[in-house]
Amino acid sequence: MPKAVFLYSDEFAHYDYGLTHPLKMRRLRLVYELLHAYGVFADPDVALIEPKPAREEDARSFHTEDYLAVLRALDEGIYPSNPYAYGLGPGDNPIFPGLYRLALLITGSSLEAARLVDARETPVAFSVAGGLHHALPHRASGFCYLDDPVIAIKWLLERGHRVAYVDIDAHHGDGVQLAFYDTDRVLTISLHEDGRFLFPGTGFVDELGEGAGYGYSVNVPLYPGTDDETYVWAFEEIVPPLIELYRPDVLVTQLGVDSFATDPLTDLRLTTHGYTRVVARLKSFGLPWVALGGGGYNLSNVARAWTLAFAIMCGIELPDELPPAGRDALRREGFDVRHLRDPEPTTSSDPRVREQAEKSVRYIQEHVLRRLAARS
Ligand SMILES: [Zn+2]
Repeated sequence: MPKAVFLYSDEFAHYDYGLTHPLKMRRLRLVYELLHAYGVFADPDVALIEPKPAREEDARSFHTEDYLAVLRALDEGIYPSNPYAYGLGPGDNPIFPGLYRLALLITGSSLEAARLVDARETPVAFSVAGGLHHALPHRASGFCYLDDPVIAIKWLLERGHRVAYVDIDAHHGDGVQLAFYDTDRVLTISLHEDGRFLFPGTGFVDELGEGAGYGYSVNVPLYPGTDDETYVWAFEEIVPPLIELYRPDVLVTQLGVDSFATDPLTDLRLTTHGYTRVVARLKSFGLPWVALGGGGYNLSNVARAWTLAFAIMCGIELPDELPPAGRDALRREGFDVRHLRDPEPTTSSDPRVREQAEKSVRYIQEHVLRRLAARS
């Protein structure tokens, strides 16, 4: 049994959101190239699997029939008369050739990760293209057309699992929260930049779920400028105790890297230091683990952080000096980088950073952790 599986297809890089769009599909090829340059795929205990597109009926578990019909028609060259009604058109969710095929391929990748983990064929599968957590049942949102995390989690629920979903993307995982807002069979936890300052404008502490799902939707909004130290502190205060109390069968994580200091779209200030501490902590839970990608708009960060994340999943330590082929791949994208890790962790001197983290943590301790502890 491989100790970790990496799901990747060269086909991802064949699609293009457009020249000025921040989401570059070729970032995934860069991750693959860097891992390859480090020789990770030469390890006989590591498997590289090429995913296949999901079937449309898989997407039906979350998305509406009319939205899927619009996406299907687009790939056949038929444009809807009202694309904006489906979140489509110039801007965040452009219409480009093959977009539905791409969305199904990404969803197929995350479903295959779920299948591998459910079948105990590997303890952890990394669907690096996945984690498109903003897509809504009837519309595209935030660069996401199909919500692969939701579709993969629904598939796991059908097999009787209880799932904990942990989302460390800089943006709130709104689509996933919405999908499981009224159930206690999925615990969603999202750490993100405060919705007052960043898309999608949701994910406040008091969004706790409803009905049977009350107390199973957890949000940790963080102040712009949140550094490694404060981020890791908040994560440690909330995520491990919640996992311990909830005792899920499967862990699903969205590992977006747009939380980094040098990401062009957000204001959090993580580096590889804080990020890898969090990923290592997720691994330490020892749960069957479906790992998904997510946001990340600085290509050097994406390549380095997801290489480090997959190395943690594999339990291997990579040297900090980039191998020549890895340096060349990054140079091709305009990054003259010598090292895998960022030089120093960040610390913030803005008192609002710590204040808000403490406020969010206290609220969750009072309204979620105490309640969950009383039940178990
Ligand atoms: Zn994001």
